[in-house]
Amino acid sequence: MVDSESLWRGWAQESIDILKGYQREGRVGFIGLSNHYPDIARQAVATVVPGPRNAGELNQALDYVQAGEDDKSYDPLDAELATRLHGQCVLCKHCLPCPREIPIPEVISCLDYVVNYGHGPRHDSTSRQRYASMQVKASDCSECGECMERCPFKVDIIGKMKRAEEVFEEGA
Ligand code: SF4
Ligand code: SF4
Repeated sequence: MVDSESLWRGWAQESIDILKGYQREGRVGFIGLSNHYPDIARQAVATVVPGPRNAGELNQALDYVQAGEDDKSYDPLDAELATRLHGQCVLCKHCLPCPREIPIPEVISCLDYVVNYGHGPRHDSTSRQRYASMQVKASDCSECGECMERCPFKVDIIGKMKRAEEVFEEGA
């Protein structure tokens, strides 16, 4: 089970602190946050809505209603997101299906908890249990590369499968 409170104390809280700094500097009026509680760790997108500081800014935002298709396009945002998240797994699952039926996002999630997030022994043990319960393991990877062709964030999935094998199966 995901410990959402600890997660918020980690990366999400850090983001909120940054946004609160913007608010203090007067760069945004209010901040609306959606954490998709209680399963934030599995969401590819968390929503942050910086609000207007005055009626003028609100009217400016409402110009969206009259905007043309080009101005409404999310393509520049998609491109920026892909750049910022390059190499990081966001659990979007676009890499699936794996011909060997490896649950790739779950394997990477377990690996991140143990190797990257540093949430302590409880997360470490939960992730090891989650990994142990998987029917198909990272060591089943044939290195076919199909998943990497599909991953929008260019995650080194084969490298992560090898690392997961070391961490969870060889105890490295
Ligand atoms: S490895 Fe890539 S495609 Fe697969 S879940 Fe992670 S980010 Fe998405
Ligand atoms: S490279 Fe490995 S994890 Fe990726 S699709 Fe092929 S077998 Fe599955």
